[in-house]
Amino acid sequence: MTLPANFNDISKHSFCVLPWVHRFVNLGGEVQLCCTAEEHSHSYIKSDSGKLINVADGFTDQQISDTAHIREIRKLMLKGTWPPACERCRITEQCGGSSRRSHENHHFKHHIPWILDNTDAQGRAPVRICSRDYRLGNLCNLRCRMCHPRASKLMLEEWNQISRRRLRLKGENAYQLTHMDWFQNEQLWDDFAEHIHDLEHLHFAGGEPLIIPEVLKALEICVKSGVASRIELTFNTNVTKIPQKHRDLWPQFKAVNLLCSVDAFGALNDYIRYPSKWKTIAHNLDTIDREHNELNLGWVSISITVQIYNVFKLADLIEYTQQRFSFIHPMPNLVHLSVPDYFNIQFLPDDLKNLVVKQLGDLSQRLKLNEMSNDPNPLDGILAFMQLSNHSPYIMNEFRRITSVFDQVRDESLICLVPELAGLMQNEAGKSFADRWKLFKSQVAWLTGRIRNRF
Ligand code: SF4
Repeated sequence: MTLPANFNDISKHSFCVLPWVHRFVNLGGEVQLCCTAEEHSHSYIKSDSGKLINVADGFTDQQISDTAHIREIRKLMLKGTWPPACERCRITEQCGGSSRRSHENHHFKHHIPWILDNTDAQGRAPVRICSRDYRLGNLCNLRCRMCHPRASKLMLEEWNQISRRRLRLKGENAYQLTHMDWFQNEQLWDDFAEHIHDLEHLHFAGGEPLIIPEVLKALEICVKSGVASRIELTFNTNVTKIPQKHRDLWPQFKAVNLLCSVDAFGALNDYIRYPSKWKTIAHNLDTIDREHNELNLGWVSISITVQIYNVFKLADLIEYTQQRFSFIHPMPNLVHLSVPDYFNIQFLPDDLKNLVVKQLGDLSQRLKLNEMSNDPNPLDGILAFMQLSNHSPYIMNEFRRITSVFDQVRDESLICLVPELAGLMQNEAGKSFADRWKLFKSQVAWLTGRIRNRF
């Protein structure tokens, strides 16, 4: 099999190495294509009987790789057709951005020849999992506003306060979320040890991976097996802690990379990523920047989840990052938030979208982002993403409702931190019959969209 020479250029093809070389196990133990596709229902890998695959059920890597589902994804990719699960990469490329697909194809380009030589017409290929991404449970010390109890079990009580009745988590569901233990399944660790010699990259997110005991267990297995020096580690961390045990283990690996989830500068970060303390975050970022050699760090980036709460204040954090650090990458990684939709910038009213366009345009100019490199301007990617949908009065009503409940429960105030959102926070719902009718129509459009997405 061959690929066109420009297959990894933006929007030129859909081939991605990950369905051959990567294993992503999500917070609940379910196997998905990759975390970029996590929000898409087609990314949940199903057995040939149609059942969602969960590592707690004892599936081996071989069985997962041989499923008709994964084979179909591979066949589509080799034909240049985007699999439905890969919508996020497709949209990123459509918006002119740099997708994870192109990054992974570049990073694992040495695997492409054997993939092309060894994949048969049914999409079967040898099992060579060289990259693993594990979310070993939902232990986290934060309760970020856009999070869910599935990712931080501490969220459960507040989730039930902010959510509409049908979404509340009670009884067995709540118990399952607060007592996750699928990551203690022996098959998981047997597979991990059996294929450890193929490993080149291990990624952990959470929860907060730097406080999850099983993350340390995985690192210790790598060290004991004598393969750690060949493995690159990557963590999505909230940088609230740099535990000593990690500091001791990291130098034994090939390199350690950190994606530090920080969503704003100062008090707004603590508001979004509650109850983090900016003083601690700033101190830990300084430590990482200063001690990168001792910690064996390969690269470190700040990762900003761009959402309604922070889109008007991106400049503060980006300019801080640019001026403050010498090792941490000066330009943060900007990730657009898609869900929950009530924090998604696509649904902002037009006057606020115009303000975002103006602010980010000014920031691009100040930072000379269109002149400095051949890489796509990440702020342009955010603006293009924002314009993909129209304002939704219904979703913005949810934003207002949920923000108000959070503010009340946490004794905080959005308007003090982001005055640009003061108008949006005023209650429009009860204003006039015309407003209520607009709201109703928007709710119907939202419901229709949800139903359409499900099929
Ligand atoms: S194309 Fe994107 S979403 Fe699909 S497997 Fe690759 S990285 Fe994941």
